[in-house]
Amino acid sequence: MVVYRRLLLMALIAAALWGAALPLSAAPQVSDPLFIAPLDVQRQEAALLPAFSADLDAAGEWDRYTVRAGIDPEKRTIAGIARLEYTNRAADPLDRIYFYLFPNLPEFGGRLDIHSATIDGVAVRVQYESNRFLLRLDLPAPLPSGASAGILLDFSATAPLNASQRYYAGFNRERGVLALASALPMAARRVDGVWQLTTPLFRGDLVTSDTALYDVTLTIPAAWTAVTTGTAIESRIDGALRTTRFVSGPQRDFTIVLTRFPSVSAEVDGTRITSYFRPENPEGGRAALDAAANALRVFNRRFGPYPLAELDIVQIDARKFLGVEYPGLIMIDRRLYAGEREGLEIVVVHEVAHQWWYSLVGNDVQNEAWLDEGLTSFAQVVYQEETRGALAAERELDGFRATYLRARQAGRDAPLKRPVSALRGNYTAIAYAKGALFFQALRLRIGEPAFDRFLRDYYAAFRYRIASSNDVRVVAERACACDLGDFYRDWVLTAAPVAVP
Ligand SMILES: [Zn+2]
Repeated sequence: MVVYRRLLLMALIAAALWGAALPLSAAPQVSDPLFIAPLDVQRQEAALLPAFSADLDAAGEWDRYTVRAGIDPEKRTIAGIARLEYTNRAADPLDRIYFYLFPNLPEFGGRLDIHSATIDGVAVRVQYESNRFLLRLDLPAPLPSGASAGILLDFSATAPLNASQRYYAGFNRERGVLALASALPMAARRVDGVWQLTTPLFRGDLVTSDTALYDVTLTIPAAWTAVTTGTAIESRIDGALRTTRFVSGPQRDFTIVLTRFPSVSAEVDGTRITSYFRPENPEGGRAALDAAANALRVFNRRFGPYPLAELDIVQIDARKFLGVEYPGLIMIDRRLYAGEREGLEIVVVHEVAHQWWYSLVGNDVQNEAWLDEGLTSFAQVVYQEETRGALAAERELDGFRATYLRARQAGRDAPLKRPVSALRGNYTAIAYAKGALFFQALRLRIGEPAFDRFLRDYYAAFRYRIASSNDVRVVAERACACDLGDFYRDWVLTAAPVAVP
């Protein structure tokens, strides 16, 4: 995410019902052929570049979502059926399953209701916890380690109207865009057999999730376009309605935006980038596309290739942030396109870098935000270096130096590994600025060839997975064949007065 920016920084800148009879009339309907067969993994290939179709060999590690929903942009609703084919990957049997219901966070200003649920065809009680942020379903029978269950949810969600000043603009209809970030029920994470159920703090990014496969069919008014995390594989018009089926490939979330905006597209290394913009901002729309294209080209070369067939950028109204990243889909504030705010290019570059750091390589964004925000901010330096040269890269670093040193001089230094709940006024200075400087310091410490190996190895080792702070250390030590214990301790674990690179 980019929340705030000055000068050059900124930083913030089922097995579902295999034909089983439904015990309750209120239970989700499954006559729909989409829910009869399990998710078709082969169809997911359409979301990946041909060179990466073998990534689906790891599909056994990922849960699968099949969704059929209708979206009414006038009423700002999405309603339908979601099936999750869920596998118990922990050692112990499971007695319940939790879902995150992000639209029920107060900051979303909307709601997500689960009207009924079944597990392997058996109706189960819908139980909300944590002020409806969590959905809890008790399993009719314990799910053994390694076994799978098909969960069917009948859901509907409503987004607020013109709420960008009050609520989270990623879930909102305003000025011709219906943004539906995190609108679908999402399986909660389990780490070492422990459910991760803490309500996220609204500071920076919110969603830490495991990679999954999504097969999503959306029916919308034909005059609108559905822009999503996925790639369209089928589409048909029935009167005034258009139904499109999307597949995501391996992704951590499935985000949906409806718009009637014009768009421009470009292709970079096989990936189709599309920029959707307000009709009065064609130059901004083109500039966003160019920035994304240049960034993708640079990061493909420096980090390792982006494996997906598409990447979308949508102009939205966001007062509280400048840009936000979702898998395969970036939202950027309207004012940047019209030049009312500075920095469209670098904000787009930042959100494109998040496709590597946060999306493809995941991390706990609430407890180790520096991993994605620091490396993404550092990517701005890489971008400047590759597109404009060393002087521009220095200017980018200067922004981070100034932000970090200001916080340090004010007595607000902190270790990089620090939950967002413990970072208040210094969240940007630590997670973004100090985080970016860590990677520059690492680069100077281990030298260019080893640092280059580190970036590529980190991406290759953790693509589709979740990395931790210690993983950065381990991969870096392997890349340099050296010990980084002191360096890691001073920067990551303590607030030692590190030498600013
Ligand atoms: Zn960010």
